[in-house]
Amino acid sequence: MSAFENLTTNRSTYVTHLECGLKGDRYEADVIQQLSKAGRPLLVKYDLQGLAANISKTELAQRPADLWRYREFLPVRKTENVVSLGESHTPLIRLSELEENSGQLIVKDEGRLPTGSFKARGLCMAVSMAKELGISKLAMPTNGNAGAALAAYASRAGMQSYVFCPEDTPEVNVREIAAQGAKVWRVNGLINDCGRIVGEGKAATGWFDFSTLKEPYRIEGKKTMGLELADQLGWNVPDVIFYPTGGGTGLIGMWKAFNELKTMGWLSGKLPRMVAVQATGCAPVVKAFEEGTRHAELWKDAHTVASGIRVPVAIGDFLILDAVRDSGGFATAVTDESIIRGLKEVSERTGLLLCPEGAATYAAWKQELVSGRITPKENCVLFNCASGLKYPLSEANDSIDCTQPLDYGLIG
Ligand SMILES: *Cc1c(COP(=O)(O)O)cnc(C)c1O
Repeated sequence: MSAFENLTTNRSTYVTHLECGLKGDRYEADVIQQLSKAGRPLLVKYDLQGLAANISKTELAQRPADLWRYREFLPVRKTENVVSLGESHTPLIRLSELEENSGQLIVKDEGRLPTGSFKARGLCMAVSMAKELGISKLAMPTNGNAGAALAAYASRAGMQSYVFCPEDTPEVNVREIAAQGAKVWRVNGLINDCGRIVGEGKAATGWFDFSTLKEPYRIEGKKTMGLELADQLGWNVPDVIFYPTGGGTGLIGMWKAFNELKTMGWLSGKLPRMVAVQATGCAPVVKAFEEGTRHAELWKDAHTVASGIRVPVAIGDFLILDAVRDSGGFATAVTDESIIRGLKEVSERTGLLLCPEGAATYAAWKQELVSGRITPKENCVLFNCASGLKYPLSEANDSIDCTQPLDYGLIG
């Protein structure tokens, strides 16, 4: 049985319309939409009073612990259009071994999702909505994980996907994209060059552009991180959230979730401070935050070991910056050395293998405890966005010749 079969078929959801995230002008739901007239992301709006009147926390608690538990908070109207590969809740893992003059340190481990990354949340929603709207050819530029999730959910929905990766995308990502039924190409440029290929090829091919935030529904999928986190904490929130920020979909989505829950009266008190974590080799949001601007400039020569956050320009930059500022949070950058050191420290001391982007949030947490931007009283949640197994690991080359006598003193 799939998780949502216990829900009424064709239950209508509470979507009222879409809205430009920058200008606030209104767009129709239930028809194909990409960006707003201002060329900015569209946000999905709901009848939150209607939602609050018709759904209860008790009712939700009786449903399976997965993403579709929050069915009415999401845009898919017809259950037959739900495209799913089993989006189970991801665990909260407390790392008390690493707490020292600090509040609680908790990792939300998103590496357990289908395709091994939280891109599954966004793409399962976006592909479900593509199905609902009758779209069948999906194209995307990707640094790896988004393309893998697109490939998987498109194939699951019986659609063809076309994926364009920068040349240095990790081998495992390119192969998993191909293995899951997509057509995939390496491009000798960066993610924005791949995006240009999608944009320019649309007219000739009939592709629907699935680039980050260029369709309205990935944010809604990522929003479930906020709903799920609050649900797991008994409809409470942590003091601070550290989020590895590339295109920012997850940070924007979580902030949207918390505000919707607050409007519904499901959360009270202070919302979490949102911290956008980037790498020093690619930190456009951090630069804009420090300079007090609402938009970020293109970052030149972007480089970092954390490929998921190597995004030189984000179309939703102002939504990230608004969320960070409105929440009383901040944006901060960490070096590749501290990312690598953090990854090793967490996996060796706690057994939890992070991805480099997750390790960046740990490095930022340590850095900001020292700087004083977070206090020893604040309980923090870090997002580990992908399985550490999707990345190249350090070599382990010790071997044993089993035909010779062994000196166990050297081994044990
Ligand atoms: C995509 C990705 C990110 C960045 O997520 P956004 O919501 O696009 O900012 C971080 N880490 C990993 C592993 C990713 O795949």
